[in-house]
Amino acid sequence: MRRSLAPSQVAKRKLSGGSGQDEGWTARREKRQKSSEDSRNIHISPFREPLTQLNNRPEYLDSDKHEAFIRSILSKPFKVPIPNYTGALGVRALGLKRAGVRKALHDPFADDALVLYEPPTLSAHELIKADKEKVPVHVVVDPVLGKVLRPHQREGVKFLWECVTGRRIPGSYGCIMADEMGLGKTLQCITLIWTLLRQSPDFKPEIDKVIVVSPSSLVRNWSNEVQKWLGGRVTPLAIDGGSKDDIDRQLVNFISQYGLRVPSPILIISYETFRLHAAVLHKGKVGLVICDEGHRLKNSDNQTYQALNAMAAQRRVLISGTPIQNDLLEYFSLVHFVNAGILGTAQEFKKRFELPILKGRDADANEKDRQAGEEKLTELISVVNRCLIRRTSDILSKYLPVKIEQVVCCRLTPLQKELYQRFLRQAEPLDSLEEGGKMNVSTLSSITSLKKLCNHPALIYDKCVEGAEGFQGALDLFPPGYCTKAVEPHLSGKMLVLDYILAITKTTTDDKVVLVSNYTQTLDLFEKLCRSRRYQYVRLDGTMSIKKRAKIVERFNSPSNPEFIFMLSSKAGGCGLNLIGANRLVMFDPDWNPANDEQAMARVWRDGQRKTCYIYRLLATGTIEEKILQRQAHKKALSSCVVDEEQNVERHFSLGELRELFSLNEDTVSDTHDKFRCRRCVNGREARPPAEDADCTSDLSQWNHCFDKKGLRDQVLKSCWDAAVSFVFHQRSHEEQKGVV
Ligand SMILES: [Zn+2]
Repeated sequence: MRRSLAPSQVAKRKLSGGSGQDEGWTARREKRQKSSEDSRNIHISPFREPLTQLNNRPEYLDSDKHEAFIRSILSKPFKVPIPNYTGALGVRALGLKRAGVRKALHDPFADDALVLYEPPTLSAHELIKADKEKVPVHVVVDPVLGKVLRPHQREGVKFLWECVTGRRIPGSYGCIMADEMGLGKTLQCITLIWTLLRQSPDFKPEIDKVIVVSPSSLVRNWSNEVQKWLGGRVTPLAIDGGSKDDIDRQLVNFISQYGLRVPSPILIISYETFRLHAAVLHKGKVGLVICDEGHRLKNSDNQTYQALNAMAAQRRVLISGTPIQNDLLEYFSLVHFVNAGILGTAQEFKKRFELPILKGRDADANEKDRQAGEEKLTELISVVNRCLIRRTSDILSKYLPVKIEQVVCCRLTPLQKELYQRFLRQAEPLDSLEEGGKMNVSTLSSITSLKKLCNHPALIYDKCVEGAEGFQGALDLFPPGYCTKAVEPHLSGKMLVLDYILAITKTTTDDKVVLVSNYTQTLDLFEKLCRSRRYQYVRLDGTMSIKKRAKIVERFNSPSNPEFIFMLSSKAGGCGLNLIGANRLVMFDPDWNPANDEQAMARVWRDGQRKTCYIYRLLATGTIEEKILQRQAHKKALSSCVVDEEQNVERHFSLGELRELFSLNEDTVSDTHDKFRCRRCVNGREARPPAEDADCTSDLSQWNHCFDKKGLRDQVLKSCWDAAVSFVFHQRSHEEQKGVV
């Protein structure tokens, strides 16, 4: 008996319940029932297996796709019938030379193909006339790697390839890969290596051998990474230590290989071993040298530099996340190593760039020097940028919600001001500073006293009771009947602002807050405040076991739990803590080291965060806290000047100004803003907005400057203004991108 397979009939049978009225079919139907239920396509016959999945059918109407599909079936590699044989993948071994048209190793027209080189298109006529043996071919990154590269990595690989093949600067074949941590520098370099070892526009490998030189601790890591990304396609030779003869033998074997497909094309070696055995490697040529953590080569006089520089290797890539410290000359060494000559000799560089730049950067420089310095810096950057690629990790921020960072200057209360002035008069910390120019114990303790006073007078109350140096007679200034049991937020400007921030956040949002301070004493105050306001909180303690930590963090992060505040000491090491349950973070006092503050902020603004983040960095106006912030900016400015292209970063503070730690600027809304000599602000109003492309990583002079609450983006801070705020700098991480997840 044959049943009609017409769709109408099949559908009818389905509708009738498919329960098998015809007894003869039941058994077979039951057997097939499962598969037929799985399929949502009512056209699938329960009696015949379709050749391919029929629900794909509409796609085959597209002939291009169909062709591609067939091609993909046909191009499946021949399966070697030997168990466990992995073979030389990607190596075209024995066999006849293929005749016919030269073509790219990988399909340049495939979806997501990363094409590094595209040959010029020839007309039919030119094609006939062209020498078939010389027609250039596409260079396409192996899809195995191409499909795992993120967009910025694809861009990076293309940049590296164009540099080392001399396409960016004629006659120069080197570059510096200076991406920040976390952007995949190693993967980009492995992609470059693999491409060069297999392809070129000339239909043969660009190079035959590569040396990767890295710190000893990273040799194994490199080897693992190569294996991870390239699988069995190539086995790197990793050398770090061993007997001298053994190493020499391996290196001789390595260096004496040559030809189109050498068996062991990648050598990974530590700097120390390289230096000791350089003589062997100097006997041959290699196509490419990659130096990881390349800032080791900042001094061109050291032996490692000399040994590497003497290598017969034209193409050079230097990897470094921190290419410049303070010294432009160090920077010169690095560029000179990869592309000798593009900045002239060391002497020429010093005269042409270094001296005028440093002269212009000094805060006491005149307008002419400053301009000359800036011009030189621009010139230097434009030369260097042709062979340097640096992306900061904030490109990863595209995956995160917007972060709004706010530096909030808070007025001292009259009590704080009196105590501050009295301390400066009585302790005379300046005298001891000026004697040697170096900080001694008493200056350090003076700093601590002043910082504590900025947080709250309660923190120095004991010293006043004792009549400690600088605080003699200060007890009289406290209100009558004062006792440290209560919080009394109104005695500290910052505490007042914090009290407002918490109250308004609590009543107008369902956000949670992280509170950070350098001092456990300040955290004690926070606890008192929370208790008196009946906020639920948790406090991370340095002595807590890891298990207990994890427990309270998990509890806090859950939105359904009532804990509103998480307290953290910046010294107790919040490193690695994930507090994405909160999206507001208050840094109650600044740290000398900008990295610590950044660490703290990264607790909430990180993977998994869904809400807009608000960071509040509180500072007491005109006090030592502002100087600390300025000092932070100065440190950052020196290191980011050339590499991050922030020409306008510094000049804000001279060394003399940094010695002003121990003075109180009473007639200001923000000492830091005064120091900028800001030209965007006129008569206490920001007349021009900051540059459009400025973000949180920009210098404070490129943030929004608010003399009143009108310009604020954060409603919570707006409501706090009248408490004690005198000035606010604010900036955002990036503009919100609608539609991007
Ligand atoms: Zn301004």
